Amino acid sequence: MSIVTLIPGDGIGPEVTSAMRKVVEAAGADIQWEVAEAGAAQMDKYGTPLPQHVIDSIKKNKVAIKGPVTTPVGKGFRSINVQLRQSLDLYVNLRPVKSFKGLKSRYEDVDLVIVRENTEDLYAGIEHKIGDYGAESIKLITKPACKRIVEFAFDYAKKNNRKKVTAVHKANIMKLSDGLFLNTAREVAEENKNVEFDDLIVDAAAMNLVLNPEKYDVMVMPNLYGDILSDLCSGLVGGLGIIPGANIGKDYAVFEAVHGSAPQISGQNIANPTAEIQSAVMMLKYLGQTECAEKIENALAKVFEEGIVLTQDLGGTATTTEFTDKVISEIK
Ligand code: ATP
Ligand code: MG
Repeated sequence: MSIVTLIPGDGIGPEVTSAMRKVVEAAGADIQWEVAEAGAAQMDKYGTPLPQHVIDSIKKNKVAIKGPVTTPVGKGFRSINVQLRQSLDLYVNLRPVKSFKGLKSRYEDVDLVIVRENTEDLYAGIEHKIGDYGAESIKLITKPACKRIVEFAFDYAKKNNRKKVTAVHKANIMKLSDGLFLNTAREVAEENKNVEFDDLIVDAAAMNLVLNPEKYDVMVMPNLYGDILSDLCSGLVGGLGIIPGANIGKDYAVFEAVHGSAPQISGQNIANPTAEIQSAVMMLKYLGQTECAEKIENALAKVFEEGIVLTQDLGGTATTTEFTDKVISEIK
């Protein structure tokens, strides 16, 4: 049995995590949940949106799954997600982008994986004002961080039978920082000659992903490009409601949908829980509960192939609950 920290989160978080939990339980997963609340609502009680006991729970259990959390704007708080990633050293953000058969979207045969560096770049939080005149944000890129993220990408490619790793960068302009990323990627590629390697400038990547997404396999990149291109890629296959994610480090892993808290649609029982459910599939595989993960994958595939019970973001009329019940009925 695995004990997993469950963070419901803000906005649509509680709705999609509760759907995820029902589906995971219906599949017979051997999991005990330890619910830990984080997010805007914890401010009054604990004076911080990310109380220490939440981090302690993840450190104890080593694995967590979360809904999106909102960081209070303009109160001097650092992003909860960024804080979590940095305090647990979750240096990989893994986002598989795959088309569902039958689901109407821009493309039908996308199957790529974004490997986003998760601890530095413009997310390092090194910012200062230049008086009233301006402000400066530092883009921090270090060799050890480049090395471990590219190594992860190659390992992932080998373990998952993927053929190619593409490094995405802007080394033509940021010759030192992105140059270091690219050179390190080339070094790591030299040691992994059984996997094909190439590189792509980020602006060209944006265009090529829209023109020919099926050409890409594993794509590894610094933090900010990963943020932007993973939203772009979600749009290729049906939107943010679909794409799962995992934050992985040496010791801990935190699974979460790529989307945010979507406050405009929260509390209405209309959010698409697929992204969160697919995050749970990644988690179950990570925990070695593969059979259970595959049951859920197959159930989702059936629901989309049938194409009748779909949430609004995918052109359907089903509520979160109706969609969830449908997925569960396909598991049984
Ligand atoms: P945050 O500030 O927390 O990122 P946001 O308003 O940017 O919140 P996102 O979750 O990033 O919200 O999503 C942007 C839009 O995409 C939402 O307003 C919503 O329309 C759509 N969306 C995102 N996730 C889902 C989902 N799970 N189901 C349906 N629609 C979604
Ligand atoms: Mg957002």
